[in-house]
Amino acid sequence: MRAVRRFTVHARIPDQLAGLTALATNLRWTWHPPTRDLFASMDNALFRRIRDPLRMLTEIPAGRLEELARDEVFLARTREAVEDLERYLTEPRWYQRLAAEDGDRHRVPAAIAYFSMEFGVHEALPNYSGGLGVLAGDHLKAASDLGVPVIGVGPLYRAGYFRQSLSLDGWQVEHYPVIDPDGLPLELVTEPSGEPVLVRVAMPGGRELRAQIWKASVGRAPLLLLDTDVDGNDDDLRRVTDRLYGGDADHRIRQEILAGIGGMRAVRRYCELTGHPQPEVFHTNEGHAGFLGLERANEILGSGELSFDEALSAVRAGTVFTTHTPVSAGIDRFPVDLVQHYFGDGRLLPHVDPRRVLALGAEDNPGMFNMAHMGLRLAQRANGVSALHGRVSRRIFAGLWPGFDVEEVPIRSVTNGVHGPTWVAREMSALLGGNDEEWGHDGDGSGIDPSVTDEQLWALRRELRSNLVAEVRRRAREAWLQRGASALELGWTERIFDPDVLTVGFARRVPTYKRLTLMLRDPERLRALLLDEQRPIQIVVAGKSHPADEGGKALIQQIVRFVDDPEVRQRIVFLPDYGMSMARYLYRGCDVWLNNPTRPLEACGTSGMKAALNGCLNLSIRDGWWDEYYDGSNGWAIPTADGVTDPLQRDDLEAAALYDLLGQQIAPLFYDRDANGVPKGWMSMVWHTLRTLGPSVQASRMVREYVESYYLPAATMVAAAGENDYAGSREFARYRDRLEMAWPQVRVLDTELLGEGADTLVVGTEVRVRATVDLAGLDESDVDVQAVVGRVGDTDDLHDTVHVSMKPTGRGVFETALRLPHAGALGYTVRVLPRHRLLASPAELGKVVLA
Ligand SMILES: *Cc1c(COP(=O)(O)O)cnc(C)c1O
Repeated sequence: MRAVRRFTVHARIPDQLAGLTALATNLRWTWHPPTRDLFASMDNALFRRIRDPLRMLTEIPAGRLEELARDEVFLARTREAVEDLERYLTEPRWYQRLAAEDGDRHRVPAAIAYFSMEFGVHEALPNYSGGLGVLAGDHLKAASDLGVPVIGVGPLYRAGYFRQSLSLDGWQVEHYPVIDPDGLPLELVTEPSGEPVLVRVAMPGGRELRAQIWKASVGRAPLLLLDTDVDGNDDDLRRVTDRLYGGDADHRIRQEILAGIGGMRAVRRYCELTGHPQPEVFHTNEGHAGFLGLERANEILGSGELSFDEALSAVRAGTVFTTHTPVSAGIDRFPVDLVQHYFGDGRLLPHVDPRRVLALGAEDNPGMFNMAHMGLRLAQRANGVSALHGRVSRRIFAGLWPGFDVEEVPIRSVTNGVHGPTWVAREMSALLGGNDEEWGHDGDGSGIDPSVTDEQLWALRRELRSNLVAEVRRRAREAWLQRGASALELGWTERIFDPDVLTVGFARRVPTYKRLTLMLRDPERLRALLLDEQRPIQIVVAGKSHPADEGGKALIQQIVRFVDDPEVRQRIVFLPDYGMSMARYLYRGCDVWLNNPTRPLEACGTSGMKAALNGCLNLSIRDGWWDEYYDGSNGWAIPTADGVTDPLQRDDLEAAALYDLLGQQIAPLFYDRDANGVPKGWMSMVWHTLRTLGPSVQASRMVREYVESYYLPAATMVAAAGENDYAGSREFARYRDRLEMAWPQVRVLDTELLGEGADTLVVGTEVRVRATVDLAGLDESDVDVQAVVGRVGDTDDLHDTVHVSMKPTGRGVFETALRLPHAGALGYTVRVLPRHRLLASPAELGKVVLA
């Protein structure tokens, strides 16, 4: 029988235990082991099965709850835990100290809104598909730990991303279990009347899309999730938040309109109702929620007499855009007609001219609206997610800043990080952290207890590997039951994998560039590595393919067919349904974390960071974060055949290098033991990884960078643009008008290198540069005239340049002294750039005049 309707009956919690509800609804328990211990102590077996405090409260027998309500020891522990949470939520932390020290130099924003299409906080709230979502979750958690007042905003999907299983012949099968928000750690945001807050956005044809708002508490950070499955929405509109990354362009644009415009309205109303400070800075994790900038322009235009351009400068000042795509094909785009369809009648954003909307998303192809271009035009600050990805992004988007060298394109980078307390095995924190058990939480790497020995760490590594082996066996058996095997024929799953064999993990989404099947390039070599008598390796593979990606599913099937072979299946396994709960075992239990994308298509990659924090060594192509952090002794770099254009030949070369590394370096090092059975050489790499990568791969480092280099300067600029009824924005808009008028006539008339004496020039010699500039009526203070010096090649193109601002000496003459930075053939030039206090980068307006 199927139910016609579902509903949730809440448990009756005895008054004495009311504190448990507070502990269960704040997701801090997901990274706070003592809170988990408390719930486990209520019913250990039950907790081990469901691992979710909120579900504990509904599933635990009422009799046991009554017993606990009389248990003085338990009550005291509960009180203590509640007090600890209360302290965590209110005490001043890093951000509050920063505000105290830095508050007069920068404006320290009272709140920052962080928009993302997915948030992976914990499997108990399945609202993510992979890396992007988990990063968003880690961002919120680290922000919470640091006391950074971030509010998360995004959609709540009724069927999340899919759950993966396999058919008998190894084909991916997708399931969409529907969630019940009432059973999740969420609270409905309500009006004072008790009615749910409804966010409304206009849809074409006079319709309206409504969404209610669920709040998850991620430590100190509220996470607002919009849900369109509400009465009063037409059926098709109810389904706007049905699934993550499902459906066609029309479905996607509705989701993105909801996330950006609806999301902004949700934050505003939430802050009004709760007294939470309104955000001053708006950060979009990838471009999907970019429409939020338009809603902010809409707000400003609705509140006063400003032009769109005046409003735009205030919006830009407060927006931070993080791009995650290293390929143009990965950029989110819509047909212009579709955008016109939603914005064209002017009801969605009554104060914004639809033509301005379309212009913001313009790209080379006049038929397409480009969300990344809009993101960059609406955000004064933009960044990629690793140093390499920053460079790649500057190249991809260079066209938006014509006249500037690629290095000067105003897109910087903040390398991603991962939330230590979420990803580090508790046993590892306890061993390395000594008494405070806090290793991996926010440390600088010096926090490792110096008395820990190789033997102790090696024993722990084995324990974590054994846990993984047990999990592999359990999941392999379950997967085969789902594929239709009977329990009787599955005895072998109890014997697969070995807690003493070198264990390699490879788990990720399955787009082509990640090359799931690279390890199968030469199946015989792989087989030989797995089955080596002396030095075997075992490999755990996992990953989901996008449901519409048949190619990806075929790759999974190839892997599954290989691992199904009875000869190798004790050493290699494909585990279906990669997600946070499986990931945890993998990152902790593997010895080697493998990553072999096609360089430079991996923007950052974060799974290897989570592995590193647990003493697992990385074996990776030098792509994403590994390009910047590989140091020769913290893991291995698979050499890339960068110049080779034939992809198959490239795969052959890189796969061969991978087999060589595994067979000739990695396995020998792992199995080279001292008298006590400890691999000394291996352990020295593990220690080096923990010490050096430990501090740098953490989300706390990432969030501090965002605060110091993005949020604070952005808030300072917002204040400058907005004060006195946007006097700053208005003046800036006038400046831009002046610039537009004059710029075509601005010219460098003449340049001169003074004090030139060919025989005396050495590196460091000071020379003077003088230039005469026709400012076409602009004021000297409106521009930055720069002398640029650098190396020249055959083409006279300058590179490795250094630039110095020149001082006006009157009548359009500018002068400066500069030291020659390099030996060899040098050249110099002079250029004129806009200058204004509301510009974050001189390239921002895309204007430059060269001599
Ligand atoms: C960290 C994480 C990812 C991202 O890993 P990549 O290295 O970026 O591929 C994906 N899925 C889950 C469940 C994760 O925890």
